[in-house]
Amino acid sequence: MKHTIPRGTKDILPSEMPYWHLIESNSKKIFNLYGYQEIRTPIFENTPLFERGIGQDSDIVKKEMYTFIDKGDRSITLRPEGTAPVARSFINNGFHKKSGDSKLYYCGPMFRYERPQAGRYRQFHQIGIENIGTNHPSIDAETIAMAYHLFESIGLTKVKVLINSIGSQTCRPQIESKIKEYIHPVLSSLSEDNQDKVMKNPLRILDSKDPTIQSHLKKFPDIQSLLRPESQAYFKSVLSYLDAQNVPYQVTPTLVRGLDYYTETVFEIISDDLGAQNTICGGGRYNNLIKELGGQDTPAFGFAFGVERMILILEQQNTVSLEQDKSVFIAPIGKEHQNDGFKLANHLRRHGIPCMLDFTKNDLSPLLKKANKTNARFTLISGQNEVNNQTVILKDMKSGNQETIDRNKILETLTERLSYV
Ligand code: ATP
Ligand code: MG
Repeated sequence: MKHTIPRGTKDILPSEMPYWHLIESNSKKIFNLYGYQEIRTPIFENTPLFERGIGQDSDIVKKEMYTFIDKGDRSITLRPEGTAPVARSFINNGFHKKSGDSKLYYCGPMFRYERPQAGRYRQFHQIGIENIGTNHPSIDAETIAMAYHLFESIGLTKVKVLINSIGSQTCRPQIESKIKEYIHPVLSSLSEDNQDKVMKNPLRILDSKDPTIQSHLKKFPDIQSLLRPESQAYFKSVLSYLDAQNVPYQVTPTLVRGLDYYTETVFEIISDDLGAQNTICGGGRYNNLIKELGGQDTPAFGFAFGVERMILILEQQNTVSLEQDKSVFIAPIGKEHQNDGFKLANHLRRHGIPCMLDFTKNDLSPLLKKANKTNARFTLISGQNEVNNQTVILKDMKSGNQETIDRNKILETLTERLSYV
């Protein structure tokens, strides 16, 4: 029986790895420059963490969670996002007592039961950060600037920062009742799902693509005007800190985020190079989550981006230069020289040069064929003559040129030539 891969998952093959390594290593480098440290939480958590942390009325909790009962009768969920687990860990490990504020980053697989399509999988990867402990507009702006800096360093062009403020918990009732007021005349004609949203999570209606909803919200006042003066001032300050750092942004009054925990600033980074799934990164301030999860009242700001979606853009841009092969194939001619081959390979490997061998072949022609197949950049050929003279033949697999060099010059010669590859 042939086994297929589960729907919505994919193998990440060696040919894609240059993209993964580029994104992962740049993320670590940039996060480090801003003082962030890595945290790793389990891939599964107790289900109530997400129900409470993300919100019962969010799409994730309502439709997308991988939840199962384990052998001990506990309800377990494969993590659909990284913020609630990091917040839980912050509380459990008493971070607030240790340092007051924490700057944490994570990367790893997330799981959501969604309809698979380009850029949307059931297992996908996120890289994200959480800045926990400080409520100040400079944090929002510095964090967004860091995301922008990271995307630039990875080489993404045509990315845009969209930003909005949804105010504090105190602004929320007024905004929500205004939304209900505008939608009320058409409420009964909406889908059950949308009616439910209007009743339970009206803010999410603002970014709805439903044409009836859109037409009734056309005259909806700019959300900024409904915020309390403190929230308006906070948002203004975030924008001026962004200006100071030369981060281009677009204020987008209909931008609301899918998760219940956001307060004040919300933002997304989108790419003009992606079609329908054009959001690569989303985040914002969440001042109530840690308290909601049983911790002390602790403000926070965070974001996460999808690695697979970022790779889709990089592939389209076609600007990432894929790593050249820098390996050396060792070709001892004749079985009696195989140990000599091992010696050569181990000497070079201990000096950082990748080497490959194939002892199932002993003649020059099949050995060279194999060297070509493995994409080796150089081949070292050594037969009886070379062993007698303490030399090897160095063959450049690209040009086909070959030359005889002294054994004690091998490391020096290869190190120099490979540095130009
Ligand atoms: P969308 O509106 O596309 O469903 P979202 O609001 O659910 O996105 P977030 O929860 O903010 O997404 O997650 C942040 C990022 O993670 C997204 O911008 C996207 O790049 C990525 N992402 C989210 N869901 C998926 C998925 N199912 N497959 C691949 N990447 C995803
Ligand atoms: Mg989603």
